[in-house]
Amino acid sequence: MSIQTSDASSKDYAKALSLIAAHSHISGLGLDEHLQAKATSQGMVGQTQARRAAGIILKMVQNGTIAGRAVLIAGPPSTGKTALAMGLSQSLGQDVPFTAIAGSEIFSLELSKTEALTQAFRKSIGVKIKEETEMIEGEVVEIQIDKSITGGHKQGKLTIKTTDMETIYELGSKMIEGLTKEKVLAGDVISIDKASGKITKLGRSFARSRDYDAMGADTRFVQCPEGELQKRKSVVHTVSLHEIDVINSRTQGFLALFTGDTGEIRSEVRDQINTKVAEWKEEGKADIVPGVLFIDEVHMLDIECFSFINRALEDEFAPIVVMATNKGISKTRGTTYKSPHGLPLDLLDRSIIITTQNYNEQEIKTILSIRAQEEEVEVAADALDLMTKIGTEASLRYASNLISVSQQIALKRKSNTVEVADIKRAYLLFLDSSRSVKFLQEFQPQYID
Ligand code: ATP
Repeated sequence: MSIQTSDASSKDYAKALSLIAAHSHISGLGLDEHLQAKATSQGMVGQTQARRAAGIILKMVQNGTIAGRAVLIAGPPSTGKTALAMGLSQSLGQDVPFTAIAGSEIFSLELSKTEALTQAFRKSIGVKIKEETEMIEGEVVEIQIDKSITGGHKQGKLTIKTTDMETIYELGSKMIEGLTKEKVLAGDVISIDKASGKITKLGRSFARSRDYDAMGADTRFVQCPEGELQKRKSVVHTVSLHEIDVINSRTQGFLALFTGDTGEIRSEVRDQINTKVAEWKEEGKADIVPGVLFIDEVHMLDIECFSFINRALEDEFAPIVVMATNKGISKTRGTTYKSPHGLPLDLLDRSIIITTQNYNEQEIKTILSIRAQEEEVEVAADALDLMTKIGTEASLRYASNLISVSQQIALKRKSNTVEVADIKRAYLLFLDSSRSVKFLQEFQPQYID
């Protein structure tokens, strides 16, 4: 079976984009070399203890000692749980996939719970495929050959750097210095004049010993061997296991990646792909890159989903599972038991728990000002103060949403700077959740139950 790969679905991208938009200012955990959290770094503000803890998890992931475990981030809403997971994934590297889902997304009419979870898991596992490209013709910009070489033909080491500086050909064993602008192909014979170091390309037909003899004793020849002149630079691209699944699923085909309508994927397809990917890994053609699967509102999952996660953590291709919740002691869905964060005890037992705390006013102000910069919105100093006050009283998320809304209002009055009046208007036009509750309580009779 041939396994094909392609880019991720547009729906996935859209999803990833909207998530990244809210967290686009975060480029890592903002830790120093001793894993201490800097006050504000890589877009991260405060929450130092949780960031330090995430730094230790990062080390565990890098040292390969995280297997079989999950991370649970527990804390009040808008305290940076998603931001922390994002920072962790960014610190792991650019090619590391990051998938974010909300617990409630698992329950849909189209997919079974376990299928939805399987897809989320496999979206979070990257397969880095190395593709050796065809032999290329290289323009020689530098040839180094050791002048001290004496002896027979075909000696010396050539280091040929092509105009594409990443591509380096190495031939033979020693070096002589020299420079040429010739193009050299595999199989070409080049001559090197021992006295001047001058290098001449003689072409392929010169590869016969009587031709060498005709050139005189001071000339050295090197035939660029076929095998060595392969382009060394290989093209690497990372796709997720899920993308490989979808493309190779006979019922779906790659178009499903664009509609996001992937449906159920048969387990035989996944088995075949696992075998194939394991083979590639064995042959050095691919590397597995475990990514981060972030499950927000994890308490929305039920006992069957939790069992699935427990099992999936043991899998050879397991991503780093980071769960988040703002629930205290509550009932595990699908059972009559109460447990911390609504998680069954066996899963809790294998989780490393990090807690996040509410932000102080200064931290909220810094986050809002970073967000404004990120969204390229200019905010007057007193307007930022007001936004901060709203952030402490309503929520950071609400205040953060006011940035773009107030910008629109400012633009309407042809100003590029958000002023206090713009924030006030935005605040009156759009309710935060507690005012929305109050409003509903007041006008409940006019709504349909
Ligand atoms: P919820 O419980 O509602 O899912 P959450 O705890 O996941 O919320 P986030 O979504 O991470 O909170 O945070 C809300 C916004 O504030 C996001 O834009 C996030 O990037 C930003 N933010 C939160 N914490 C930090 C932080 N420590 N540094 C920088 N930005 C932050």
